[in-house]
Amino acid sequence: KNGVVIVGAGHAGVQAAASLREEGYDGPVTLVGDEAELPYHKPPLSKTFIKDPAAQPQMLRADVFYSNNRIDLRPGTMVERIDLGGRRLDLVGGDHIPFDAAILATGSRPRELKLAGAELGGVLSLRSVADARLIRELSATTGDVVVLGGGFIGLEIAATLRLGGRNVTVVEAQERLLGRAVAPAISAHVRHRLESTGVRVLTQTTIQRLEGGNGHVTAAILSTGERLPAQMVIVGIGVVPNVELAQTAGLTLSNGIRVDGSLRSSQPEILAIGDAANYRHLFSGTDVRLESVQNATDQARLAARTILGHEGRYDSVPWFWSDIGDMKLQMVGLAGASDSTVVVGDMADNKFSVYHYGGNRLIAIESVNRPADHMLGRKMLGAGFSPHPETVTAGADALKAAFA
Ligand code: FAD
Repeated sequence: KNGVVIVGAGHAGVQAAASLREEGYDGPVTLVGDEAELPYHKPPLSKTFIKDPAAQPQMLRADVFYSNNRIDLRPGTMVERIDLGGRRLDLVGGDHIPFDAAILATGSRPRELKLAGAELGGVLSLRSVADARLIRELSATTGDVVVLGGGFIGLEIAATLRLGGRNVTVVEAQERLLGRAVAPAISAHVRHRLESTGVRVLTQTTIQRLEGGNGHVTAAILSTGERLPAQMVIVGIGVVPNVELAQTAGLTLSNGIRVDGSLRSSQPEILAIGDAANYRHLFSGTDVRLESVQNATDQARLAARTILGHEGRYDSVPWFWSDIGDMKLQMVGLAGASDSTVVVGDMADNKFSVYHYGGNRLIAIESVNRPADHMLGRKMLGAGFSPHPETVTAGADALKAAFA
């Protein structure tokens, strides 16, 4: 028995290894990851890690977990190629790992900035703990920071660095912050709150080029012609899935590695999960590639079951969180088909939720500092329960009573 090999030791890969054992898989489990450190949590990197010089990465599992569970963890190891015919992985450096089944949990990487000056020192993006260390070190001696991209990671970093006393400007091409992700009411609220802490927010604006001196960035020249001094530029313009291994092996791709409901790729002994996987979501009926810890870990659990021969379809309700300064944002469901919303709570108080309806069906809830709404929302959406909008407006007690 050659066992299961998992490529990528991030949130999805580590959970897949753990779930294989929890589900009773007895054969060899090999977990290959190209990063040097023990697998760690990514979300704190843009939140707490970069502001605390003493912060250490938080391990996903203690180091003994791997040996106790007979998981052959190979950090600092890059897979170069999948040899489908030979049913083995070729590693950089010449080694091979044979397998019966493989799980691709290769994640995604920051989209590359393509403009003059992008190669200058101080132009950074954030994906790994190595990236976070660079940002933390450089920000200690940086006065002016420009964040390109008003998505979750960019805004989390902007809020954190502003709290640390930096001059921060966010430059976003679209009309509003978090435009792809949340309702306009939340975008407006986040903008207002960030601005009240002194973050400058420029929408419908892009960076034309970056200027430097001695190989290091000194300024960003905007589409408006303005020249913004900057000793650090954070690039947060989204991610691209790591599909190269799948691509050269000839697996079907479609904005990610295409998988079916049981997470098998077009080659049945190869599964794909997490940020790298694209699938038809049962919940919305649309093709999605989700970038969240929930998606990575829930898919990992199902992938383990698939390998063990269980029938099952991936149908988890998607949820996500982000901490931007004093705003805890929590999202559940997929709001893509939203055509009306109900807002409860108090924006002035920095506590409110937006309930999204598609027709008369509740499809998503976005909350700011209302964790109880989020938790109840996860239960309601998981049960396929759609409260009447008037029940939502009537408040938490009415909603709970209706759901009970
Ligand atoms: P990853 O965790 O990225 O793991 C993939 C691993 O595979 C990486 O270590 C990569 O180096 C490795 N790899 C790739 N190719 C190879 C190869 N050929 N050989 C060997 N190894 C390879 N999600 C939330 O839900 N909430 C949050 O608040 C949140 N905050 C985030 C903050 C930051 C700064 C970042 C970067 C992400 C955040 N996310 C958050 C997203 C979340 O971390 C990802 O969705 C999740 O990590 C996806 O898991 P994954 O295993 O698919 O990918």
